[in-house]
Amino acid sequence: MADANPAPILSKPPEPAPVSTPATIPAPAHPPLQPGTLYLVATPLGNLEDITLRAIRTLKECNLVAAEDTRRSGLLLKHLGISKPMLSYFQFNEARRSQEILGLLRQGRTVALISDAGSPGISDPGYRVVREAVAAGLRVESVPGPCAMVAALTASGLPTDEFHFAGFLAHKSGQRTRKLQSLGALGTTFVLYESPYRVVKLLTELNTLLPGRQVALARELTKKFEEFLRGTPAQLLEWAAKHPPKGEFVVVVAGEESGDHGSAPVEEQSDPPLRVRLS
Ligand code: SAM
Repeated sequence: MADANPAPILSKPPEPAPVSTPATIPAPAHPPLQPGTLYLVATPLGNLEDITLRAIRTLKECNLVAAEDTRRSGLLLKHLGISKPMLSYFQFNEARRSQEILGLLRQGRTVALISDAGSPGISDPGYRVVREAVAAGLRVESVPGPCAMVAALTASGLPTDEFHFAGFLAHKSGQRTRKLQSLGALGTTFVLYESPYRVVKLLTELNTLLPGRQVALARELTKKFEEFLRGTPAQLLEWAAKHPPKGEFVVVVAGEESGDHGSAPVEEQSDPPLRVRLS
């Protein structure tokens, strides 16, 4: 027989999910740096906001920073609130320093390699120590970030599906001409680094050798006076006659003639307020 006064069925509210208190939050997912690893850390091209969280952590946690210019990189580390032993690693001590760095890696130390700006190894010291570390079976990791070539190419408006990066051209005219002819024959976009003192020379060479190509000049990327100038070599020479080139330049050249000789080159001024300069 059924109970005349059944016990009320109490509907219990669901158990609240356990709340993590700060003490129980698991350790962050970032693994610690791996002993005996060479880290290639990309640093800002000019705007100090352009550095990844991982790059900052790597610089904080490594045993030693190898830098192209320890004074200049010291300013970046100071800005990041990092104090670290530093070692200079530049074009003329690469051979000796590479061996020292390999010695440290073999002892299980972690070394972060940085250049003055952007990605180490791209028209900057780095290749040699990486080659030797790889040959010695040591671990090398890239901590990617800014690179002037990528910043210029991606905003150039020229095809990015296939491109050739040639860095700095030689200084001698004959070598430059031969290189530009071979780059021009590739049929793909090509990207060059150039000093402000030779930009006009380069535009003049392009005007002679590849006059129908569209060219994008990326100037002072990520900095206060960043601008992109786009046009044929002749149009850009006209611009340069009125504005003697200053600052840092990446030159991006179309792979083939567009047939569009367009109007005057477009100047784009980036928004100044958020820009912070490194130097
Ligand atoms: N490792 C660097 C990178 O990842 O781009 C390149 C170093 S290379 C010695 C310096 C050249 O890169 C400059 O002469 C210029 O052609 C280019 N460059 C570097 N910073 C730049 C910037 N903020 N704007 C335009 N070009 C830049």
